[in-house]
Amino acid sequence: MALIRALGIDVGSTTAKIVGTDEFGNLSWHLLEQADPRVESQVEWFLFRAKEVAPSLSWDATGRAEGVPLVATGYGRRLVHQATRQVTEITCHAKGIYRELSHGGTLVDIGGQDSKVIVISRDGDVIDFTMNDKCAAGTGRFLENTASRLGVPVEQLGEVTLAAKDEVSISSTCTVFAESEVVSLIAHGVELGPILKGLHRSLIKRIVAMIGTVGLKVPLMLSGGVVLNTAVSRMLKEETGEEVIMPRHPQLMGAYGASLIALELAGL
Ligand code: ADP
Repeated sequence: MALIRALGIDVGSTTAKIVGTDEFGNLSWHLLEQADPRVESQVEWFLFRAKEVAPSLSWDATGRAEGVPLVATGYGRRLVHQATRQVTEITCHAKGIYRELSHGGTLVDIGGQDSKVIVISRDGDVIDFTMNDKCAAGTGRFLENTASRLGVPVEQLGEVTLAAKDEVSISSTCTVFAESEVVSLIAHGVELGPILKGLHRSLIKRIVAMIGTVGLKVPLMLSGGVVLNTAVSRMLKEETGEEVIMPRHPQLMGAYGASLIALELAGL
């Protein structure tokens, strides 16, 4: 059983998440699944599960939870017809992280197929941002593709990478070419660890270049599924020389921010 007064759904390119908050804006429930291309049925399933954990919710004829505001964000947000409002990922991520960490700074969000850098003021407003959703380099997909080629599960990428002493330089920034480069390195007998370290370096350099376009306002904060990979946070710290701060649920910040906006819309 969970106390849910507002809901936020983040339909990402790789994962879909739903978050429930209580009346004080505390994250009280969540669900995260691989994104289903049939967005509408996944959203229906999410709302069905919300009702299961919070039986006091009741649905109206349009599928909206009565009296429970819902904000949708993410790449598939326009397909969430039950939403009270659709809000951009930039606004939702900023909202979620500001509430979670209680300060501004520069948020780096690395998702499955996009990455973004958002500069947030001390009052929680978005000052500037940049987003890459056109190219897989600098996103989770860059590591995922090569990790599967190397037979390393994504959950173990950080450990294997950080254990490597050596590092090979990966010259291709393009995901497809990097994959061919990796295959060739393996054929030449290069070990997994140094290859992975080189791949992570390439991703991090992309992210640092994005930070450079908006300017780094400390502290550096991280969100998105890819930052669960410990090598990503460690190497970002190395490359920028700054401490990095992570919220409790890095992958849920967009959905959490959406639920907080929903709570505000309801005047709660
Ligand atoms: P999106 O919101 O863009 O759909 P997410 O923020 O949910 O994406 O991040 C998904 C990405 O996070 C995928 O590329 C996946 O490989 C990566 N990821 C998820 N969990 C882990 C983990 N434990 N370790 C490393 N990478 C992870």
